[in-house]
Amino acid sequence: GSAGRHGDGIIEARERMLGPAYRLFYRNPVHLVRGEGSHLFDADGTRYLDAYNNVASVGHCHPHVVDAVMRQMTSINTHTRYLHDGIVDYSGRLLATLGPEIDQVMYACTGSEANDLALRVASAHTGASGVIVTTEAYHGNTHAVTAISPSNGGAAVLGPHVRTVPPPDPRSAGSTADTFADHVRRAADDLQRAGFGVSCLVVDTIFSSDGIFADPDVLVPAVAAARAVGAVFIADEVQPGFGRTGEAMWGFDRHGVRPDIVTMGKPMGNGLPVSAIAARPDVLERFATTQPYFNTFGGSPVSMAAAAAVLDVIESEDLPAQVIGIGARLREGITRIAADHPAVGDIRGAGLYIGVEIVTADAAPDRGRARAIVEAMRDAHVLISVCGEHGNVLKIRPPLVFSDSDVDWFCTALDSALATTLATAG
Ligand code: PMP
Repeated sequence: GSAGRHGDGIIEARERMLGPAYRLFYRNPVHLVRGEGSHLFDADGTRYLDAYNNVASVGHCHPHVVDAVMRQMTSINTHTRYLHDGIVDYSGRLLATLGPEIDQVMYACTGSEANDLALRVASAHTGASGVIVTTEAYHGNTHAVTAISPSNGGAAVLGPHVRTVPPPDPRSAGSTADTFADHVRRAADDLQRAGFGVSCLVVDTIFSSDGIFADPDVLVPAVAAARAVGAVFIADEVQPGFGRTGEAMWGFDRHGVRPDIVTMGKPMGNGLPVSAIAARPDVLERFATTQPYFNTFGGSPVSMAAAAAVLDVIESEDLPAQVIGIGARLREGITRIAADHPAVGDIRGAGLYIGVEIVTADAAPDRGRARAIVEAMRDAHVLISVCGEHGNVLKIRPPLVFSDSDVDWFCTALDSALATTLATAG
């Protein structure tokens, strides 16, 4: 189904008009026209299992979200310079989930914008510019946020004010939490020697692009080390936020730390561009009193209607409890399959965020085979991707409404993808 109304085919039309920066998934790209829950349908009516999408987190086209957005769209959509109940009601609900002290919220449209704003807030508060991130971090695509996102292109994109630290991998020597804190301390020293000071430690609290390191309680000493040099801790909750781990609404909750600033996006509006930063008022103060903030679309009545409907669904469908149960079943299924396939290395994750390492016979990362498995699963109509420093970790991150039969479908496809792919040189 790639031809249709574009004379030269939809792929060629994209390349011609969008240019080479736009990358498609898969050798045989997927052309999706409809979604429902955890399932997607292509232009030919073929059904796909979505085991990758964390934006449509409460399910593709969830009727409660669709209805809330449609109803708001038909009455009024303006911006934050007029009074509207939606933003006040939603802010109260959101802040109640974030625990004590994090008492103010500012809205944007993308995770990138939220992180960009968080960097400005942190710099205004600390008077410093140095930033510490993990080796393969991705925090977004603005100019400032690209400079703290090594996964965009390694050292080539990093700003001079940025230092990277390895993620907390429990397989490395010593206490995971202490080792991570040592790296943060060393990075902080280096930033101070270079004259940048240390503004913030920014952490995706499930270390998704680093390869998914989901062990809890690994952040306390690192956050203390950052604070000891006057820096603030920014928890990037774009990936684990809004209940994905099942155990907690936020990734930082699993680590027993209190962030100074929290950033969030993706699942917040279930597909509408809705994002935010939430922070302690004393951290926001310097920024907020020295410059006004306006974001044309951020916090609009329609955005707030979508976001409120997402919270409604998380509560009414008891999604965190669902995620614990279905995540455990999915993980058990993968573990059972792994017994027959030595190519499966470490299996890790939390809730419905699961990483599966693909390795060679001598336990080296097998990037080529991981990619082949992603392609084989696509051919079986199951959508996943890869992550991690070596690109060999299968990234399994379905909508939170994944069902028992979805788990069965997923496991059948993974089993046969492992059976039909071969080890590569890595
Ligand atoms: N932070 C993290 C951890 C992300 O994964 C992403 C998106 N992949 C972003 C920030 C940026 O979000 P957006 O694409 O909405 O700008």
